[in-house]
Amino acid sequence: MPVALELLLYLVAAVLFVLGLKRLGSPLTARQGNRMSGVGMLLAIVVTLFDHGILGYQEIIVGMFIGSAVGFWMARSVKMTSMPQMVALLNGFGGGASLLVGGAEFLKAELAGVTPTIDIGITTQLSLLIGSVTLSGSLIAWAKLQEVMTGKPITFPLQKVINGGLFAAIVGLAAYQLIVPQQVLWPFYTVIALALVLGVLLVIPIGGADMPVVISLLNSYSGIAASMTGFVIHNNVLIIAGALVGSSGIILSQIMCKAMNRSLANVLFGAFGGDAGAIGKSSEGLTVRQVTVEDAAVQLGYAQLVIVVPGYGLAVAQAQHAVRELADLIERRGGEVKYAIHPVAGRMPGHMNVLLAEANVPYEKLCEMDQINDDFQRADVALVIGANDVVNPAARTDEGSPIYGMPILNADHAKSIIVMKRGMSAGFAGIENELFYNPKTAMLFGDAKKSLTSLVTEIKAL
Ligand code: NDP
Repeated sequence: MPVALELLLYLVAAVLFVLGLKRLGSPLTARQGNRMSGVGMLLAIVVTLFDHGILGYQEIIVGMFIGSAVGFWMARSVKMTSMPQMVALLNGFGGGASLLVGGAEFLKAELAGVTPTIDIGITTQLSLLIGSVTLSGSLIAWAKLQEVMTGKPITFPLQKVINGGLFAAIVGLAAYQLIVPQQVLWPFYTVIALALVLGVLLVIPIGGADMPVVISLLNSYSGIAASMTGFVIHNNVLIIAGALVGSSGIILSQIMCKAMNRSLANVLFGAFGGDAGAIGKSSEGLTVRQVTVEDAAVQLGYAQLVIVVPGYGLAVAQAQHAVRELADLIERRGGEVKYAIHPVAGRMPGHMNVLLAEANVPYEKLCEMDQINDDFQRADVALVIGANDVVNPAARTDEGSPIYGMPILNADHAKSIIVMKRGMSAGFAGIENELFYNPKTAMLFGDAKKSLTSLVTEIKAL
């Protein structure tokens, strides 16, 4: 393939990536954006394989068929609540691929007796280091989320010092590798082994519930590793794609931290989610008011404006279709229903949007926090379904609370609040929620899906 045509096609692929990313910014265009980026990637792969004559047509088609079938099966069969695990695995594969390609290129040059230029030498070492950390770190993130290992932070004395020492050793060995004569391979293998250990040590002290932030960060690492590998194999489109993944991953990590009012350093080194995190104001002496399904149905059936606040419990209960049915019923009776979406509701960015989109809730009904917070005061009912931390007023008032300063949804400003959850358990932050003891609040205990189904039956009978 002529070089000019190759570069032109790579440019088209890069433009498709950028446009695809842009379209991912809105739920309305996200599917289209995903497809555009996918086409860009397909183009990039095919051009690369044809250009370098690495494989014949048959192998390309068979490889694409197998890869697509596995990807299709994984995407179709994964549960919505297991999505972060799947992304963790895919990140790990990305890191692993960079490690393999970087490693293979290094060994190829070594065996041929070719001394790489300094830039290629450095980028090779970086692709080995970042690729290995991403691979092992992602596997630990997957294991924590899949509950194959404990989700609690694993900490031990001098942990940060050991990690720092390990990192310094890796950098020292990588530098040594760059200057030693040919055929000395032990630093190469040692860098990979130590970097794999570092990946494990960096992720084990992070609590399971903080894993989505870590996964987003590892996603960024996998992009940087890919970009470095792009330099090693002189592939422009890999450099561009890697840089896009690297930068978007870090931006997403920052957005998630901001929405939780925590710094990235606090997420990475704060060991949040262990026993130490379980603090907050005591509820001693306070009482909760319970409501029956019948009474809640009357309240909802005659409300003018109901604002639904979905949270992690809605995803656990898989109650998205039931909530849609309830909303349709209220609207048929003349009421209005809106959904208030907190940026960190659930356990991954966009969790609630994806969940509700699955039940075909119209996008225009999903309102972002800033957009809807003022509407709560005119809402007859704030219907909090499986949400807890994102409506906890302690974020505004309790300076000692781990979530102090986190922007929250103003559910407590509504004329009345119905909270649907199974019991009085805390949410992710492990703290009491004074909203449940608010005189305007009524608790409807039970699994969210069962309660919503009962509400639908009751409202139909009104
Ligand atoms: P929370 O984790 O605060 O609370 C979820 C609540 O759902 C629990 O209190 C639980 O109470 C209830 N619940 C669980 N299962 C069910 C069920 N079957 N039916 C009804 N209720 C159920 O969720 P939020 O969405 O309010 O907050 C998300 C939290 O996760 C925030 O603290 C955020 O910082 C954190 N986080 C979010 C990330 C993201 O990207 N979205 C990433 C990392 C962390 P009970 O057991 O009593 O039923």
